[in-house]
Amino acid sequence: MTLAERLYLPEIVKGLVVTNYHFVRNLVLHTAHVFGLAKSRRAATTVQYPDERKRYSEGYRGSHRLTLRPDGAVRCTACFLCATACPAQCIYIEAGEHPDPHIEKYPMRYEIDTLRCIYCGLCVEACPCDAIRMDTYVHPRIWGFDRKDFVETKELLMHRSEVLAARGREGNMEEMLAWYQEQDRQVYNPQRPELKTYTSRVLPPPWSAPDEEQGAIEALPRHPGANGSSPK
Ligand code: SF4
Ligand code: SF4
Repeated sequence: MTLAERLYLPEIVKGLVVTNYHFVRNLVLHTAHVFGLAKSRRAATTVQYPDERKRYSEGYRGSHRLTLRPDGAVRCTACFLCATACPAQCIYIEAGEHPDPHIEKYPMRYEIDTLRCIYCGLCVEACPCDAIRMDTYVHPRIWGFDRKDFVETKELLMHRSEVLAARGREGNMEEMLAWYQEQDRQVYNPQRPELKTYTSRVLPPPWSAPDEEQGAIEALPRHPGANGSSPK
């Protein structure tokens, strides 16, 4: 080590120069941005979450969706291969007889418990008819009021396909963030202090199933094999 290195002083000065350069640069640019100047120059490399969010890559695999037939019906044929392949046993399906004689079955209920899901993608791999995908560009829901908010219903999973087709890759994320903001606005409404609880659902999401189905979700059994019951 040279004498200068052993004194540490030059290295300390170098570090202070770098730190202060970024501090002053960010201060100047953030101040300029407040006045509408130099908007094209980014002040910091960090993402200013939650005002900003990172755009997920094209290969991102996030929340599920059920794909649709051309007439808008669910493509799934309730074959249970995804539920069988799922290592977390978080897919619940109730099969029904399809009115079209060319299609054997369809899912009357199809639910994914995202609190158990590990997003491994095995359900997508197992599906023989491309009925389930994870290309929604939306991450799993990060908060809710009770467990039901984390159970994704057939209606929601189909709704994501509709949104993706109608509004593109940002559609589902925008809808989820808008729902969060509306929930937040409702919960923290000072005019309605009774809503300041996380134990009650204050605003159903736009894709919510009819009341009787929501009631059924509350008593959601786990994977058919997990509680001894067998699907019809
Ligand atoms: S991603 Fe994995 S854990 Fe989640 S539902 Fe599919 S198979 Fe199950
Ligand atoms: S999503 Fe695919 S694998 Fe799962 S039940 Fe439907 S058709 Fe079968």
